[in-house]
Amino acid sequence: MTGQEMEDKIKNLLGSKITAGEMDFLHGFYRIPGIYRYSIRNTIMIMIQGGSIAMGFDRWQKAGRHVKRGERANIEILVPKMINTTDKETGDKDQLCAGFFGRKVFDISQTEGKPLEYQNNSAEVINVSYADISVKLQSALGINITSAITGSARGYFKRGITAGAREIVISSMSNNSDKCKTLFHELGHALLHESAEDVESHPAREVEAELTSLLVCSVLGVEFQESALYIKAYNEHKPEVRVLKVISAVQKILKAII
Ligand SMILES: [Zn+2]
Repeated sequence: MTGQEMEDKIKNLLGSKITAGEMDFLHGFYRIPGIYRYSIRNTIMIMIQGGSIAMGFDRWQKAGRHVKRGERANIEILVPKMINTTDKETGDKDQLCAGFFGRKVFDISQTEGKPLEYQNNSAEVINVSYADISVKLQSALGINITSAITGSARGYFKRGITAGAREIVISSMSNNSDKCKTLFHELGHALLHESAEDVESHPAREVEAELTSLLVCSVLGVEFQESALYIKAYNEHKPEVRVLKVISAVQKILKAII
């Protein structure tokens, strides 16, 4: 994906009008650990229709929840129509996406039953080691990264008086995945919000930092539903998000760890 493509797509992601066609390229980008694998397009479609986690009747039952009496499925997602193909020369069988059709699903708010596990803890899904990447990022980016008990926060960034005094503190109570995800978020702040004047609005800072984390995690093959919810919540304030700067922060982080 080029920087320009990524920029366009993120603009779409943050905009209120997103057509399914525009989001096609992101198919398969977004995953919810342990629950369901959505394309990022469907995740965004669910969000802009006012939902958070949405699934069909049967899937909710499998997850230990049931749709409340009288609720109607009113969130539409797009489901790929797969067709079987056979390679004429080699005889290899494969599946091809021949297009998409709409399907109505229920939002979690229309269901009741067993709490979903992610509501308490992120699943342990990141396949990189926090211990490894924090060392690499510390030396590549010149930011002190330490671990401590941070109370209810999963981490924070302390702006130093001098560049060398910048520090990120990550909660020692978090699991590996949450540590990585939080580190990417705080690095977003460190790389994008070094001086207080960089971005004035708090929602813009939070959307930029969480987008950084979401994109880095996406490239690592991991998605956290909470990232999308976090961005959605702050995005309601319609902040000015500097997409190109976010992309360059993402690239710096990836360069240091991949
Ligand atoms: Zn933040």
